[in-house]
Order: sequence, then structure tokens, then C-alpha cells
Amino acid sequence: MAPMRAGLSIDPPLAAIPGVLAEEGVDAFQTVLRDPGRFGNYGVPDPADRAALVEGLRGRGAWGVAHGSLLVNLASPEGRIRNSSVSSLLADLKVAAEVGLAGVCFHVGYAKGHPSAEAALQLATRKLGELVERMPAGPRLFLENSCEGSELGQTVAELARLVRDVAAPPERLALLIDTCHLHAAGFDLSGDEAGGRLADALAAEGVLDRVAAFHLNDCLLPCGAHRDRHAVPGAGTIGMGVISVATHAAFASLPGVIELSVAEARRGLAFLREHGALPGR
Ligand SMILES: [Zn+2]
Repeated sequence: MAPMRAGLSIDPPLAAIPGVLAEEGVDAFQTVLRDPGRFGNYGVPDPADRAALVEGLRGRGAWGVAHGSLLVNLASPEGRIRNSSVSSLLADLKVAAEVGLAGVCFHVGYAKGHPSAEAALQLATRKLGELVERMPAGPRLFLENSCEGSELGQTVAELARLVRDVAAPPERLALLIDTCHLHAAGFDLSGDEAGGRLADALAAEGVLDRVAAFHLNDCLLPCGAHRDRHAVPGAGTIGMGVISVATHAAFASLPGVIELSVAEARRGLAFLREHGALPGR
């Protein structure tokens, strides 16, 4: 059984990424391609920085994903926010294509401001469809599960519904499962059977094949807390459940990124190695 291809989150400059991957002995990463707290082209890596990443990773077969802006809300009642969300993700996808990333992950949006979650989901589905129509060839969109407040996409069923309704092919729209978010949203991922239960739940909704990547975070708060607080793998309320997911046959060899500082991720990678969920070094 080949365990998950685990890696870590590395902030720009992009030029630093190849060195950090070599130091940590992994080949999967996440980064950002803009200031995540502002709409507009702020903090986008310049051409020299992009070229340094391409050069540094040449021939190494590394896998990388960019995390979209934290302001993305494809379900916003405000047209300006919905359109900025689409533009921002399109701009990230273009840079991702240029530097050879696998794609861009994002949270779909919020039900807040709508009379019902249903209305918000329909709007999100429409904007997501528009995004898929306009996206450049190459990189994928990775729809990530959420866990806070009125965020959409907190359950496997709701993610599956979005995937079905948008009806884009898997090479355009994939799912990225954040273990912390799913646990915080009420799907208990603790225990040795967690990987099997997750695979079964995804298969029951017909989306097991859509899962293309993970955020392999442990969770600081209890299952169902609906708060996004990451913990070092093995040090949170999921514990060995992270190993169960990372070593499950259905998720074998998928990339999984720990979203913490490099120093904390290093402790998480050590935990994964200790339990056979990442090859030794
Ligand atoms: Zn999170």
C-alpha cells in the first residue's frame, strides 16, 4: 500500500519552495499566488519569481496547489463580490498554469445574506459553472470542504451536490478534503476506521473518484465545533484518524498538504513517517 503523498504549505516567494521541499524530504506543497486577504492583483509573484519556481522544480515531479483568496464567495448576495471571486480564481489559475501547479483550491462561499442555504447553493452552482467555462487549460479547480458558520460545502452530501449540479468533468473540478474541516463540521475522523468511513461516505454520494487531494490537518477543537483551528497531525482531536485516512487504499498516493508553519508541519511529517504514512528519509 502506497501511503499518501504528504507535503506542506510554503509561503512565497515561490523561489524558496524547491529548497524547502528538499530540506523536508517531500514533493507536495501548497502556496498562495496573491495576498489572500485582498481582492485585486496584490502580492502576485513577479515573472522572475515564477521562473525561479519552474526552474527549481524542473524534472522533480513535484505536485503543487495554490490556495485561492480567503475572500472568495461565489454565493455572495453582492454581484461585485461574486464577480471579484471569479476574477481572482481565474487570475490564480492562469499563474498556476504558467508555473505548472496542479490547480487552485478554494472554499465555495457562504449562505449568509440569503433566505435559505438552497438559494445560496443555486447561486454558487451558477457562478462555479461560469468559472469552469472560463478557466484556462491545464490546472484544476479543487473545491474544498468548509466548517465555519454559514459556509457552504461542510458535508460530503453538499459537496457531492455541488459537483453533480455544476456537471464539470473531473479534470476541471475535483474535490479537496480538509480532514480538520470535515471533523470540525461533525464528521468524526478520529479512530482507526476513519479512512474507511470517509471512503464509504464519499462512495455513497458517488464522489470517491472526485477526491484528488487532501489538506492533512489535525483539529484543535472537538468534532462538531465548527471552528477552523488546525493542529499538528497526531496532536489534535483526530489523532490516529489522520493515519487511517492517509494510509487508506482509496486515498493512496493522492497528495496531502499540512497547512501550518513549516516548523509545525515538520512535526506532522515526522508523525506520518513514524506511522508508515509517509516514506522514511
Ligand atoms: Zn482550515
